[in-house]
Amino acid sequence: MKQEINLTVKPGYVKAYQEGYPLISQESVLDWSKVKGEGSIIHLLDDRKKFIAKGYYGKQNKGYGWVLSTKKAVKTDVAYFTGKIKSAIKYREDFYSDESTTAFRVFNGEGDGVGGLTIDYFDGFYLVTWYSVGIYKFKEDILGALKSSVEYKGIYQKKRFNTKGQYLDDTNDFICGIKASEPLIVKENGENFAIYLDDGAMVGVFLDQREVRKTIRDSYAKGKTVLNTFSYTGAFSVFAALGGAVKTTSVDLANRSRSKTEEQFSINDIDVEAQDIIVEDVFNYFKYAVRKKLSFDLVVLDPPSFARSKKHTFSAGKDYVKLLKEAIQITNKGGVIVASTNASNFDMKKFKDFIAKAFKELNGSYKIEHTFSLPKDFRVMDSFKEGDYLKVVFIRKLA
Ligand code: SAH
Repeated sequence: MKQEINLTVKPGYVKAYQEGYPLISQESVLDWSKVKGEGSIIHLLDDRKKFIAKGYYGKQNKGYGWVLSTKKAVKTDVAYFTGKIKSAIKYREDFYSDESTTAFRVFNGEGDGVGGLTIDYFDGFYLVTWYSVGIYKFKEDILGALKSSVEYKGIYQKKRFNTKGQYLDDTNDFICGIKASEPLIVKENGENFAIYLDDGAMVGVFLDQREVRKTIRDSYAKGKTVLNTFSYTGAFSVFAALGGAVKTTSVDLANRSRSKTEEQFSINDIDVEAQDIIVEDVFNYFKYAVRKKLSFDLVVLDPPSFARSKKHTFSAGKDYVKLLKEAIQITNKGGVIVASTNASNFDMKKFKDFIAKAFKELNGSYKIEHTFSLPKDFRVMDSFKEGDYLKVVFIRKLA
């Protein structure tokens, strides 16, 4: 039996929880000292002790827990999680029946009713990601619910929290079923991706950029020279090459990015020799490109929200304008910059302000042709728009 604890919500926050706000923030609750272990069930009460909602305690960088229900009688057991998972699957029926895409998100945290938990699908395999010790305490019930709701080849997991707690085993990401081949080849809009379910924190592709990749392939790549910065495994380069780019240049400072990118090209029958893969700090590469008078028709910017390299610290909120200015200078007139960020500390409006500022400081002009946020499978709650962290803007450089 999980410990159930009554906590008092500060008056200023009561309305938000009544209206369905899901994130239990540290500052919204009076008496955190009453809560002992992660995974405890919390009842949020107003200052007259009236029940508002129940949730669980699990520390993430975002907050101290997530609301699970506004009904006091709801038990957070296998049946509860089964209901959530089944409705998440129903919402994605069109993904399950689309043979040209075999990798997508099945369960997107609070967007599907349980914050701190995501489940991704890779051609019959399921990958469960736990974002706090608290949610990991529900592991048995959640896995039981998943197993009874889907047909699976195998189930894997990632623990996205500090694994120093003594009860945690971080020996293996494989949980049950059969093991996936390494790589596991999945499809996205008819193209191939090599996925590694048990090889570190990331599996090889970020599923939330699916529509952006498709747009590049179908409408922006043909006959173009493409620079893909912060390229990781080169997913944008692959789609650009498949869309008829004359040449792609992928830049990432991680050593592994070269072999990973070569692999993604070769499983898509793209001539690897005709592409450039450069292992270097993007900011050095920009300087090199300016010196060599290199310029491109299409430039993709998809930095992490925060990164530290030997010479540079990059924080999207502080440095995106600078990054854009570097990119603008090596983009051909009439060319396009695909500017992307997954930073959750600023919104689309602010991101567009960054774009305006960068062009203004260079006396340039531009036109925005497309914007993207998270795709349908990355479901977001209406009452928690912050959950939609992805912002992608296709910018045409006019002058
Ligand atoms: N655009 C990629 C995902 C990027 S993940 C995709 O669509 O799949 C972020 C990547 O940025 C990582 O691979 C990391 O190695 C790289 N990176 C971080 N700082 C960098 C820098 N200063 N220069 C080049 N690459 C960097």
